Amino acid sequence: MKQSMSFIPTLREVPADADVKSHQLLLRAGFIRQNASGVYTYLPLGRKVLQKVEAIIRDEMNHAGAAELFMPALQQAELWQESGRWYSYGPELMRLKDRNDREFALGATHEEVITSLVRDEVKSYKRLPLTLYQIQTKYRDEKRPRFGLLRGREFIMKDAYSFHASQESLDEVYERIFQAYSNVFRRCGLNFRAVIADSGAMGGKDTHEFMVLSDIGEDTIAYSDTSDFAANIEMAPVTAVYEKSSDPAKELEKVRTEGKKTIEEVSSFLNVEEKDCIKSLLFKIDDRFVLVLVRGDHEVNDIKLKNYYGAATVELADTITTKEILGCSVGSLGPIGVDGVEVLADLAVEAIVNGVCGANEEDYHYTNVNPDRDLKVSTYTDLRFIKEGDPSPDGQGTIVFAKGIEVGHVFKLGTRYSESMNAEILDENGRSKPMIMGCYGIGVSRTMAAVAEQFNDENGLVWPTNISPFDVHLIAVNMKDNAQAELAEALYSSLQQAGMEILLDDRQERPGVKFADADLIGLPIRVTIGKKASEGIVEVKIRKNGEMQEIHKDDLADTLKNMLKEL
Ligand code: ATP
Ligand code: MG
Repeated sequence: MKQSMSFIPTLREVPADADVKSHQLLLRAGFIRQNASGVYTYLPLGRKVLQKVEAIIRDEMNHAGAAELFMPALQQAELWQESGRWYSYGPELMRLKDRNDREFALGATHEEVITSLVRDEVKSYKRLPLTLYQIQTKYRDEKRPRFGLLRGREFIMKDAYSFHASQESLDEVYERIFQAYSNVFRRCGLNFRAVIADSGAMGGKDTHEFMVLSDIGEDTIAYSDTSDFAANIEMAPVTAVYEKSSDPAKELEKVRTEGKKTIEEVSSFLNVEEKDCIKSLLFKIDDRFVLVLVRGDHEVNDIKLKNYYGAATVELADTITTKEILGCSVGSLGPIGVDGVEVLADLAVEAIVNGVCGANEEDYHYTNVNPDRDLKVSTYTDLRFIKEGDPSPDGQGTIVFAKGIEVGHVFKLGTRYSESMNAEILDENGRSKPMIMGCYGIGVSRTMAAVAEQFNDENGLVWPTNISPFDVHLIAVNMKDNAQAELAEALYSSLQQAGMEILLDDRQERPGVKFADADLIGLPIRVTIGKKASEGIVEVKIRKNGEMQEIHKDDLADTLKNMLKEL
């Protein structure tokens, strides 16, 4: 491509409303432009990167035995009503009406459309397993669209759905797609981890998220410093063993703690460690109230709470309800003597000796609390968030945290949609049963931004070769110089013939502008044609490390090909 014929509007200034590197650089290097909040145009360079990411995805998905189709973005409300999600999806689902007042949704995801399609066409177990995918625009009216392509309201997703007659078949395909996803993100050059994620009511560890490691990530990953273990912190089980001290139990005492409300305030006032305090929180779990106890230096993990009860909703009780039920405000809550409210505690609480807890009376706490003697706990179970320094749940190494951007998600759906939408097949015995399903998503546009987030320096983007919009940036310093212009044209065509993708900067711009743009755009190799053009010598610069060398034009194609292989 000749730059004079493309459209690469670069910017020198950092756009004011872009607060993360990837967003700033994709705007500045002329890859994208914002159209409305969370809605973007992909300019020619951005479009090329997307096409490369998509090609890798297609290659891996086809290899995994999935077939590509293309479903409508415009989806009848009836389908979403059948699955129930018309009512439960909330304001993220974009809804509209046609001229006859019929309701539609813009596809936020395609479980409904694909389930209705397969339901109508597939009637026997013999036709299964079946895995279908598409690469398509999705619409979600995100509450906070931000970070450019990372959280858009219109974005590109690869979504896949698999249909099975048995759980084993789902397990097998899940494993295959999991592998395909690992390959996709590796080929895109990303530093990522596959982490165990929350599968909500589905239970188990049958869902994984693929996380690109990045400080701006919205999720926290807990991983082992020595093994492969990685989980979203929401999901990481705590396997720490709590040793009980051998101190003799002292007599329970009620003490005045005026104005001391937080664990920090109470522990320093009473001169005890935070880990010897019991934190009591009243939760509303579906329709019941539960007083949940964790150690003062631990945090309640509401996902664990939700999974423990198989609940749909978990929230902290509001202050008025708390006062009604326990008779005091949040800073003095405690488990001693509560009646009619279940008390559930984290395993660490059981090992506390002579601890501190609230007295359910304003400005009072108990000291010398010994849970086995003083508390009526229904169950001690793992309820807290894992912490850095905890042992890794797989028994190998210690937990450390990192932030991650979710670029992919694989999920065993089970019969959630086939049951509500009546997608049934006849099994070997002629019995009718719902199909078992899996779903698998990759944020294609988010992946492009995640790569930009991981690969940049102070001068601009630094694309990994596999998804760079072009392989080589060919620059003629002075297009008015005949020797330079001629060599540029000659190399432009010979390098393309040798199988490389070339961006030729044939603009009448100052060299400084051309070099700055080349760094900003970030193709892996820059080839500069300057004063030595008449001798057939050009300068080759590697974007990643700045290394430069002079090469004769006759050796150029081979040298570049080798470099690209190694980069
Ligand atoms: P998130 O927690 O980030 O909102 P999600 O759980 O809603 O993601 P899925 O429904 O699993 O996402 O969608 C599959 C993939 O689509 C995600 O892994 C992510 O890469 C991508 N994705 C989801 N929402 C967006 C968005 N608003 N903008 C860009 N990509 C998105
Ligand atoms: Mg979401």
